[in-house]
Amino acid sequence: MQRLVASTLGLLISTFICNSVFAFEVQETCCRDKNRSTIDFKDNYYYGPIIDTHVHFVKSYGIKSNYIIGTYPLPQAVILLPTPGITEDRKLNNTIKKLHKSSKNIFGLCPTYMTIFNQSDEYYKKEAYLNKLNEIETNLSQEWCVGIGEIALRHQIKGDYQPHIKINYSNKAFQDILKILNKHNSVLDLHNEPILNNVSHEKMAFDDIEKIAKNYPNIKLILSHTAMTNPQNLQKLLDISPNVYTNFKHTKTKRWASFGLEPIIKKASIYEDWLMFFEKNSKKIMLGSDRKFMRNFKRVIYGRILDKKIRPLLGTLSKSSAENIGYRNAIKVYNLNPQMFD
Ligand SMILES: [Zn+2]
Repeated sequence: MQRLVASTLGLLISTFICNSVFAFEVQETCCRDKNRSTIDFKDNYYYGPIIDTHVHFVKSYGIKSNYIIGTYPLPQAVILLPTPGITEDRKLNNTIKKLHKSSKNIFGLCPTYMTIFNQSDEYYKKEAYLNKLNEIETNLSQEWCVGIGEIALRHQIKGDYQPHIKINYSNKAFQDILKILNKHNSVLDLHNEPILNNVSHEKMAFDDIEKIAKNYPNIKLILSHTAMTNPQNLQKLLDISPNVYTNFKHTKTKRWASFGLEPIIKKASIYEDWLMFFEKNSKKIMLGSDRKFMRNFKRVIYGRILDKKIRPLLGTLSKSSAENIGYRNAIKVYNLNPQMFD
């Protein structure tokens, strides 16, 4: 009897441990008060190098490397990436490859072929599928391709042409890609909205992040757009593993908040809690402007965002934090040439 009690207790404890491994505790549910304290950028300005690690490349018509970075007066590099749900992967792949050849400051994330997600068991046995996986793995060994993304597990429609995406962590293609990335110690840029159409998916979304980080510890996991949550949840996510990072963007405060997502900038100021977060986590944050380069892309608007929002924000931080976030972390995480700006 004693043995039975002991073994039942053992079973209960092990079940508890098993379940609790991926039991992310949401620290604070959405949303913080939009009118809370902010710090003005004032005349602060960061003049150092910038690596923008998250720039979408929607259409490739005739965009030249010079057009992307050539006319900007301060040192800059970009990592271009395809957009989830838009199926021009291979064409973009070739264009980014060419752009990288013509400028040492342009890199890309390899296409993720999100069309291979959510297919039938039969499809996953086909040669065409295995060839795609091979292609992804081959790309990862090339200089221009510094990771994979943007993959979206959860994405709601927030504007024209945007897809609605919901993918399970256990999805076969997603798991196969995670295995490849883990084998190559490579980067995954992940979009994972915790609130969809004003319904909280926070618990599931954060559990998935914890699963990726713990089951695939070699992957450098980038939570795009500050994980679209508040600083408290993001802190807990970053603390899961030294290989979890995040990128930030400038959003329109009202619009972003209307989707239940958390903005960091308000007009020409940064929320005070986010400023403290940036200082504390300066080795884990990168710029990911999320701008979209397409046929009607206006070079001048992109430059203006860097000049009016991003550089003043970085200038508000200490010099070392600004440099970490501005470019040093990206060099380390994406394994780029440290002499790129010399
Ligand atoms: Zn995104």
